[in-house]
Amino acid sequence: MASNSNSQERYSRQILFSGIGTEGQAKLLNSRAVIIGCGALGSSQAEALARAGVGKLRIVDRDFVESSNLQRQTMFTEHDAAERLPKAVAAANHIGEVNSDIEVEPEIADVNHSNIERLIAGADVVLDGTDNFATRYLINDACVKNGVNWIYGAAVGSYGVTMTVRPHETPCLRCIFPEAPPAASAPTCDTAGVIMPIISIVASVQVSEALKLLTGDIQSLHNSLMQFDVWRNEWRKISLGAPLTDCATCALGKFETLEADARDFAAVMCGRQAVQISPSESVHIDLAALRQKLEPAGEVKANDYLLRFRTGEYELTVFQDARSIIRGTDDIATARSLYSKYIGN
Ligand SMILES: [Zn+2]
Repeated sequence: MASNSNSQERYSRQILFSGIGTEGQAKLLNSRAVIIGCGALGSSQAEALARAGVGKLRIVDRDFVESSNLQRQTMFTEHDAAERLPKAVAAANHIGEVNSDIEVEPEIADVNHSNIERLIAGADVVLDGTDNFATRYLINDACVKNGVNWIYGAAVGSYGVTMTVRPHETPCLRCIFPEAPPAASAPTCDTAGVIMPIISIVASVQVSEALKLLTGDIQSLHNSLMQFDVWRNEWRKISLGAPLTDCATCALGKFETLEADARDFAAVMCGRQAVQISPSESVHIDLAALRQKLEPAGEVKANDYLLRFRTGEYELTVFQDARSIIRGTDDIATARSLYSKYIGN
């Protein structure tokens, strides 16, 4: 931690701001924020919270940096994409250069029912940087169950939406969206694209809400479902009432997604011509040994966190926890067969 005077200097403009002040800054430095998903929204949130001096940042992401991310995922560089660094690690590296006073906890993980409660443990606030409703319901269940405030955010095309959830004080995600939109009905970033300005707006509102929560300025929260479209020039603020008295999650305390059986072992990654295969129990893979095994069969590249193996039209990226992202197919059977052929069962 920096000396007090350095801290005063670094955060002086923020301390001058009446909403934060010396006391608010001290609270930020003693807070932990957890960012689930470090793509466009998550990397923007992470950078802003690091610059603001939130003392501990846990950054959770399952993926690695690719060149198609660089148009909007402002924390990452061409070097990260060339090295195929996991996003959590690349983000931690850059934050270390932006603010070396704070502590960053990168977690390379696919968020699921078995790890979400561990991942949010100790959080003063959780920020949604994910791109799918299944993970958002998991965050909602875990945060309502454990009484942790969280901030929903989503962006696609030029449209974005955000809402702050304070369990039992405000409606939760399930109060507002009892069911996820049917798969394939909603546009995604892979089908409709996305432009950076909407990312900046949604992430900025999420970060502002996080700063209000962390400094205890509850009165200043926006208490609404905020929607923005930067291309159609539409901004809407829909006021939220009280939590629903029959909400399955926050009223009845049913945490469906946490009680579920192990999540599907294989999942198609939307619009990416890729399938993710996760082992049903966590194992640790010796990437150096796997590299030796695969070298005779195709092109292999590896860094400290993952190994990439190319064979014909397919590309397998294998993480240390034995999870694999298989590119070149959206067929689960094909992906499973490649996984068992090259990585093992
Ligand atoms: Zn609810």
